[in-house]
Amino acid sequence: MRVGIFSDVHGNLEALEQVLRTLKAEHCDEIVFLGDAVGYGPQPDECVAAIAEVASLAILGNHDDAVLGRTNPFFFNDLALRAVLWTGRVITQETRAGLGRYELVGRRDGIFFVHATPVNPPAWEYLHDITDTERNFAAFTERICFIGHSHTPGGFASGAEGGFYPLPGQGRITLNPRNRYIINVGSVGQPRDGDPRACFALYDQQTGIVEFHRVEYDVQKTQQLMRTRRLPEMLALRLQFGH
Ligand code: ZN
Repeated sequence: MRVGIFSDVHGNLEALEQVLRTLKAEHCDEIVFLGDAVGYGPQPDECVAAIAEVASLAILGNHDDAVLGRTNPFFFNDLALRAVLWTGRVITQETRAGLGRYELVGRRDGIFFVHATPVNPPAWEYLHDITDTERNFAAFTERICFIGHSHTPGGFASGAEGGFYPLPGQGRITLNPRNRYIINVGSVGQPRDGDPRACFALYDQQTGIVEFHRVEYDVQKTQQLMRTRRLPEMLALRLQFGH
């Protein structure tokens, strides 16, 4: 199975369309979305509709959940909070229903999918370093888990002989069949690793290769729409730096 995995679109339709175009050319057997369709960006309705068209599995993110009024957005930082409140005001009933169908976790062909962490999905924690990895590897039984949430591609391997080690968030990783993996696919609509291009991953089960892809999109077009819609200027600016 060849699976395309993308996450953290955050209402950025320009970025999403470029990613979906690239994915289409890759002829995936399945396309999985790992959460946060909305929040930050100017086109939440369009993004939720486009994701529903292509994804055979859509996972719930913290911004999606906050817009639905379940996760309390007052724990978000000020800019994220303003964007979530704006999103909640403008989206259609259909979009709301679409977000309501997202699943907290998913499993396909021996792969585990979750937005934030395997150990406690609705807590929306971050898996930043090796200290968090042991309890997270213990929280799922599959060999591989794909996550999003931090907007930073990369991940961790759990070695067959014990020990954990970090993975690069670019290029190709050839998975060792004896190891287990937690892999972050980065963000489509608001990358934070210093590269402003949209990010997603391809996983080929037959070859065991995970490839990180970066795709250029019209950042200015998204920024202009954000300004027209009076979303916070800082959120528009950060897109051009990928932070
Ligand atoms: Zn996000």
